[in-house]
This record gives sequence, C-alpha cells and structure tokens, in this order.
Amino acid sequence: MTAVSGSGYSLQKRSLVTGGAGFIGSHLCRRLLDRGHQVLCVDNFFTGSRANISELLGNPNFELLRHDVTFPLYVEVDEIYNLACPASPVHYQFDPVQTTKTSVIGAVNMLGLAKRLRIPILQASTSEVYGDPTVHPQTEDYWGNVNTIGPRSCYDEGKRCAETLFFDYHRQHDLQIKVVRIFNTYGPFMHPNDGRVVSNFIVQALKGEPITLYGDGKQTRSFCYVDDLVSGLIAMMETEKAVTGPVNLGNPGEFTMIELAEMVRELVGSSVELVHRPLPQDDPRQRQPDITRAREWLGWEPKIALREGLTPTIDYFRKMVG
Ligand code: NAD
Ligand code: UDP
Repeated sequence: MTAVSGSGYSLQKRSLVTGGAGFIGSHLCRRLLDRGHQVLCVDNFFTGSRANISELLGNPNFELLRHDVTFPLYVEVDEIYNLACPASPVHYQFDPVQTTKTSVIGAVNMLGLAKRLRIPILQASTSEVYGDPTVHPQTEDYWGNVNTIGPRSCYDEGKRCAETLFFDYHRQHDLQIKVVRIFNTYGPFMHPNDGRVVSNFIVQALKGEPITLYGDGKQTRSFCYVDDLVSGLIAMMETEKAVTGPVNLGNPGEFTMIELAEMVRELVGSSVELVHRPLPQDDPRQRQPDITRAREWLGWEPKIALREGLTPTIDYFRKMVG
C-alpha cells in the first residue's frame, strides 16, 4: 500500500503506534523511523511523555497526536501497533475503570479502524493473561489462572477481553491480527516512578536507599531487554499473513527478585541493604515464557542477557537521578 503525500504517492509505510510516547512505544517509534516508515504516534500522556519522544519531534516522518484511544480515531495508515495501556501495577491500579476501558474500548476502536482500512493490527497483550500460572514455563495454549475481581483484574481481564475481540474480528471480519504476549520488559525510558521492579531497584540503589523486596523475594520473573522486544514486535507484524498468534515474546532467563536485587547492587556498585515489604495481592509466584513458537514462527529470540541489558538501563537512570 502507498501513502498519498502533498506531491504525489510515497512508498513509505505509514505505521500508527498507539501508546507511542510510552516506554516500549517510544523505542518502537524510533525503530520504525530508522526502517524508513512514517510514524503516527497517538498517546494521551497518561504514563507516557513528550520527553520520551523529544528527539523524534523534529523528524519529518514523525507525527504526534494527543488522543485517548477510548474515543474513535479516523486516520489513514497502513498498519497499527496497539500499545496504549498503562503497564505497571501502580499506574494501571490508579484508575482501574479507565484501564479496562483503554484495553477494551481502545481495542474496539483500533480494530474498527483496521477493519475500515483492511490493514494488519498488532495487539500488545501480556503475560498477565496467564495470571498466577499453574503451568511453568508458560506456553501459549495455557488458559491461565486469573482472579476476575482482584486489584490486578482491570489489567489482566482487560487484556484478555482485548485478545477475545482481536480473534473475533479475525474470525468474523477476516481481519489480519497479530497478538503478542509480552513478558516483563526493561530498558532506558522506563518511567522512574512507575513502581516496576527493575526501575525501582535501580533508582533505589543509585540513591543509596534500601532495595525493597516484596514478600520473601523468591518470586520469579523473566526480563527481556527492550531492543529485543521491539525486534519481536516488528518480526510479528511482518511475518506472513496467516500468523495471528498469540505468540509469547520474552527472555526465558528466569530470576528471583533477590537475584535481581543482588545483580543491580553489584552493577551500580552500591552496598545498600535489602529490606522486605508486604507482597501485593495476587502477585504471581513465577513467570517464564516458553518461546518455542516465537523461534519457529518468527525466527525470533532475545539476544541480550539480563546483566548486559541492565548496564545501559542503569546509565539511563544515572543521568536522570543525577
Ligand atoms: P507505558 O505505560 O510506558 O506506555 C503506555 C502508553 O500508553 C503511555 O504512553 C500512555 O500514556 C499511553 N496510554 C495509556 N492509556 C491511553 C489511552 N487511553 N489512550 C492513548 N494512550 C494511552 O507502558 P509500556 O511498558 O510501554 O507498555 C506498552 C504496552 O505493552 C502496554 O499495552 C502494556 O500492557 C504492554 N506490556 C508491557 C510490558 C512491560 O513489561 N513493559 C509487559 C507486558 C505487556
Ligand atoms: N517487586 C519487588 N520490589 C519492588 C517492586 C516490585 O519485590 O520494589 C516485585 C513484585 O512484587 C513482583 C515483581 O517484583 O513480584 C515484578 O513486579 P513488577 O511490578 O515489575 O511486574 P509484574 O508484577 O507486573 O510482573
């Protein structure tokens, strides 16, 4: 498909990135611009910021639109990456009704746009659809163990309903959908105060404050560096039409929060103490992606180990914390 520009037809692909001013979205916008795309970044700045995309604002191929995806959007583009949704527990629990609306109504609006334009649409789903998993590592055919009425439900169930909508639009309207389930991702441009574990631990170590381990700190997560994740998103969008997903995207390296805290302390060069705080309700005990599908269907796997990815992340926060 081609884009109509003022002087005629352009061969540049026009990518819409909702949530493009957020952590992952800003990296995706940058990468798509590097690949020669025109990028329309749509964001309501709930958790994202202009600072995340400030160096893109002067790029003639980049356009920023302040818009809330719970309202319809009429634009002309060639593909949609739907990332709009707060992702950290602190932020998505701040206004839980809005979180569900963003996932569900936002999905309906973006799917409607994709249907009108007959274009592919990628959904940034999440490992949270597995809830507190009873299957380990998690494969895509596991249906999950999710509380429908807890504090995490606005996010988990919103994302699950969005997946349902994506697959129903595919079956009912033959829409080309791409659903990825993203596991914990980290890197520069994470929000310093969003309460996520990697940003919390790094900021605490840099400020010389105690590192807060929730519960016994033996719960596990698998952390994917953002550059790897963005490669996975693009690989999924650009794979053959028949591949709908869901596909897990994450780094299978699994760490306890104690191990993460010790690694952060070592890399920051800090000797702050580790202190325990209450475990939040419904906090999953363990999480590790099975990425066989991503390997086989997309030829994708992460390349950056946790220790390697923490270094640029710490550098980013060091500049911010001062
Ligand atoms: P983020 O909070 O940094 O980015 C989300 C962006 O969406 C922000 O810029 C925010 O302002 C915007 N937004 C929120 N509600 C909106 C609305 N109603 N209309 C328009 N924009 C809106 O989070 P992130 O870590 O970059 O996550 C991006 C996507 O990836 C989210 O959909 C998230 O659920 C998914 N995801 C992220 C992770 C992770 O570890 N970071 C893991 C699983 C899934
Ligand atoms: N966590 C922690 N200390 C913190 C922040 C988080 O021990 O200061 C724990 C949290 O309880 C969870 C894990 O780290 O078990 C990952 O939390 P995060 O909010 O980053 O992501 P999610 O729980 O959504 O995977």
